Amino acid sequence: MHAVKPVNLHRVLDTLVNNLEGMAYRCLLDGRWTMRFVSQGCTRLCGYSAHELLDPQRISWEAITHPEDRARVRQEIGAAIAQGQRFTVYYSITTRSGEVRKVKEQGIQVTDEAGQLVLEGFIEDVTDVHLTLEALAHAELRYRQIFEHAREGIFQTTLDGRYIAANPALALLYGYATPQELIADLSDIDRRLYVQPHRRERFARLMAAHGEVSNFESEVYRRDGSKIWISENARSVYDKQGAFVCFEGTVQDISERKQQLEQLEYQANYDTLTGLANRNLLRDRIAPAISHAERLGHFLAVVFIDLDHFKLINDSLGHDAGDQLLVEIAQRIRACMRASDTVARQSGDEFVLLLNEHVQAHSVISHLQRLLGQINQPVHLQGRAFQMGASMGVALYPQDGRDAQTLLKHADVAMYAAKERGRNNFQFFTPELNQVADERLNLGTAMRVGLEQNEFTVAYQPKVDAQGRITGLEALARWHSARIGTVGPDRFIPIAEETGLIGALTDTILRQAFADACSWAPVQGRQLSVAVNLSAKLFLSNDLVARIRNLLQASGLEPQRVELEITESVFLHDMERAVVLLNELKALGVRLAMDDFGTGYSSLSYLRSLPLDTIKIDRSLITGIEQDEDLAMIACAIVNLCKNLRKSVVAEGVENRAQFDLLQAKGCDGFQGYLFSKPVHQDALRKLLAQAQGTILLPPTEALAC
Ligand code: C2E
Ligand code: CA
Ligand code: CA
Repeated sequence: MHAVKPVNLHRVLDTLVNNLEGMAYRCLLDGRWTMRFVSQGCTRLCGYSAHELLDPQRISWEAITHPEDRARVRQEIGAAIAQGQRFTVYYSITTRSGEVRKVKEQGIQVTDEAGQLVLEGFIEDVTDVHLTLEALAHAELRYRQIFEHAREGIFQTTLDGRYIAANPALALLYGYATPQELIADLSDIDRRLYVQPHRRERFARLMAAHGEVSNFESEVYRRDGSKIWISENARSVYDKQGAFVCFEGTVQDISERKQQLEQLEYQANYDTLTGLANRNLLRDRIAPAISHAERLGHFLAVVFIDLDHFKLINDSLGHDAGDQLLVEIAQRIRACMRASDTVARQSGDEFVLLLNEHVQAHSVISHLQRLLGQINQPVHLQGRAFQMGASMGVALYPQDGRDAQTLLKHADVAMYAAKERGRNNFQFFTPELNQVADERLNLGTAMRVGLEQNEFTVAYQPKVDAQGRITGLEALARWHSARIGTVGPDRFIPIAEETGLIGALTDTILRQAFADACSWAPVQGRQLSVAVNLSAKLFLSNDLVARIRNLLQASGLEPQRVELEITESVFLHDMERAVVLLNELKALGVRLAMDDFGTGYSSLSYLRSLPLDTIKIDRSLITGIEQDEDLAMIACAIVNLCKNLRKSVVAEGVENRAQFDLLQAKGCDGFQGYLFSKPVHQDALRKLLAQAQGTILLPPTEALAC
């Protein structure tokens, strides 16, 4: 039997302490931290043996403590023991081999057996832990920097709509000085942030379904109540156990992009001048309007509106006034419509209405009558009042068409009919109208063919002086089409201008007129001049002068025998360029005449600066002159002014002797009109010229009615 040996507690403790990874110690509170006891672990910790550490002549713990840490360590330990507390302090030591290591020291002040105050504690090497922690801190810092300096807003939020974290960019975005302010203030994201109700709900639903949202665009309130558009990219974060932690994501301010998009969309759908829908939006709206009308059994009216004589205002008062007029009329139309109707600007001075929910065609009529009344109210431009008219065409769904294209086309056709029926009225589409429209379309094509087939000829109307002697002839275009018969210049000139055929037509007329003029014998020793009309549209082309020069040279006609007639509208597009062109034409040696004077809006005074030789008073100011004193006065004033400006004056459309006598008495230089001759072709002209040596015998003067 072995007697159980009593446990040597002292030995057990000794073994335990000496095998600890680290150093247990007892030291004095002196300036050296003089060691009274150190455990065997000291050698692995600092390289010094227990023997060395305990010998006051050898190394002290103060010396082992890194110089940079000494004061702090002393201060921290001192502070803890002053409070009667345990202490934990981290610092570096220099080992015997010179290596610097990090240690953690934990200890407490106690009283030793002799009643002296000492420290007892434990010091362990934490270099490895420290390095790991440092690396972690570094990584943390790096991420924090990204978070702090990101341009995008970054957030973490709870399920119930509170912020856990926000970065400065997000604070700035939402109008807060700091993230802390944002987190404190924005406690209810759903109500406080999103402009659109239930937006947060939608966010949460998407999250629940997909675990993430991308490019989630919303309008939000900033702190000051202003609104911005944001785009969010976010995901749900779960812990290892799969429990929801938070939503986290980024926020971008997309207000500018949104605005640009909106602007683009606006530009694509609205007319910038008037703010009305444009033709794109109109087309988008017709189909739904048709379905709506079909469902309810209502009428849908498509109305084409074209302003009467808009071109005249635009040409004579300039584009700014034209724009102003369009804006004014657009406003009036809009004001007459209901919210459910669409008002669109189709192009230039054309508008289209889409009238919904009319139960009977009759109510469309009263609506349009009211509208026409509004359009007819005077418009004030440049200090003057103008009365505008409009021609409107109506096509009704379902009887006039069942699709957008047909309805628009038929409304357009009806509008043309309204124009033809004296303008300023409206017409409903009828199948017969379609035929007329087709003809018009054909006219352009027929003209092209006509030009190729030499169907265009020239008629000449004499211009006479006060003695009735023929001084020159005005060339006027004539067209007899093999396909559609005779068409007057009032019909085909506008179409030639629209289709661009005016250039070719003018060349034809010029060539013919120059050739014919070469064959005319002088009248009483004077060479006859030939006048040709130039459309204002030709002034937009670059080669006008060169073309006329070439045609002149090819014909051999002396330039001084040629007069070119232009209208006021030539100057009102681009006055400077027109004046340059006129001077170039003058340099060819030809004469220039202002045609149709008195029909535009311009005054005589501007004529002074233009290189014009002749002014032709428009027929509308001559007709009735013998009966109307006001008209006579106007004509007289024009004649006098022209004389002052040293321009010759020609009266157009002189139809009777009374008119001739009156104008002659006023001092008018030239006369043209049926009184002398209608426009005639070359053969008839030769006879006319042969008669009485080119003097036209006038009927005797009638007694003027007083
Ligand atoms: P316009 O240059 O003012 O020509 C005068 C028009 O008045 C001619 O009509 C002529 O036949 C008509 N006329 C002349 N005297 C009288 C009269 O005493 N009473 C009445 N009621 N009418 C008279 P037309 O030939 O039908 O030409 C109409 C317009 O077509 C011309 O007006 C001119 O602006 C244009 N035009 C004609 N030929 C050409 C052309 O070759 N080029 C261009 N650009 N325009 C042309
Ligand atoms: Ca003329
Ligand atoms: Ca004329």
